[in-house]
Amino acid sequence: MTLSVVIPVYNEEENVRLLHEQLKRVLDTLNTEYEIILVDDGSSDRTLSLLEEIQRQDTNVMVLSLRRNFGQTAAFAAGFDFAQGDVVVTMDGDLQNDPSDIPKLIELIKDNDLVSGWRKKRQDPFLSRRLPSILANWLISNVTGVKLHDYGCSLKAYRREVIKNLKLYGEMHRFIPAVASWYGVRIAEVETTHHPRLHGKSKYGISRTVKVVLDLITVKFLQSFSTKPIQFFGPVGVLSGFLGFFILFYLTFDKLFFGHDIGGRPLLLLGALLIIVGIQLIGMGLLGEMLVRVYHESQRKPIYVIKKILGPESK
Ligand code: UDP
Ligand code: MG
Repeated sequence: MTLSVVIPVYNEEENVRLLHEQLKRVLDTLNTEYEIILVDDGSSDRTLSLLEEIQRQDTNVMVLSLRRNFGQTAAFAAGFDFAQGDVVVTMDGDLQNDPSDIPKLIELIKDNDLVSGWRKKRQDPFLSRRLPSILANWLISNVTGVKLHDYGCSLKAYRREVIKNLKLYGEMHRFIPAVASWYGVRIAEVETTHHPRLHGKSKYGISRTVKVVLDLITVKFLQSFSTKPIQFFGPVGVLSGFLGFFILFYLTFDKLFFGHDIGGRPLLLLGALLIIVGIQLIGMGLLGEMLVRVYHESQRKPIYVIKKILGPESK
């Protein structure tokens, strides 16, 4: 087994040296070939030059330097594209994750496809970080059906197949387990140590909560309806259209047979609105259906994933 460790770093000049030292100490005890991929996410401090120095001294290190700050998810994606190991481990570059947890993850990856760290005693401020994270984790595990305690923990291990099949967008790295679950991966969780940030500043604050909720909606939609959008928009559209139709039918009846004035009635507005909304929703569902076909057929992307083939043709 070979190992790749992918670490995004953004303005971590006080951390990178120590990070590399600690990491090397742990990885050297593992008796496996390994590479450390440090992804500089457009740092504006001395991070990059320090990384270059580290790379010159250690041939196991690869440094990717992104042209500007693309965000942690993009930095992970870059690292994944270059990773060669059978197992890929990710972690933060700020020393909040502890490299000495890596052997634990590697032990578990033997029987799983994805192992996720759980910062049980998380060392971050309560109000701005831990509380939102508790709510987010509860929400994510209920909505996606992938039961983990700590989605935000960067310390994770993946089998190569898992990440090579993955496309990451936006701020999606915390949803990798949920996205990967579509492929039917076996997921395990393990408690890991977490340290307070000693040097440098956290790059995130409370504003991330809204983004996480929006990403969650996207992930849930893609997970459940990505191959059948009409089933998502359609029922609501049909319901709305029918309601509107009945309301207008009733008003027409009222006008024609009882001669009541209907021009000023709010119900008229509601009926018309419901019909328009209904048509729009069904239209969106149909557009979605076309997009699904464009997406899958243009990329020859199957709507299933095969694990093994048994039969006369199989090797
Ligand atoms: N990071 C990055 N690009 C960014 C923001 C963060 O590569 O735009 C890196 C950062 O250097 C660190 C990791 O992602 O190694 C986690 O960031 P941070 O510690 O700020 O997040 P927190 O631990 O506070 O959630
Ligand atoms: Mg951190």
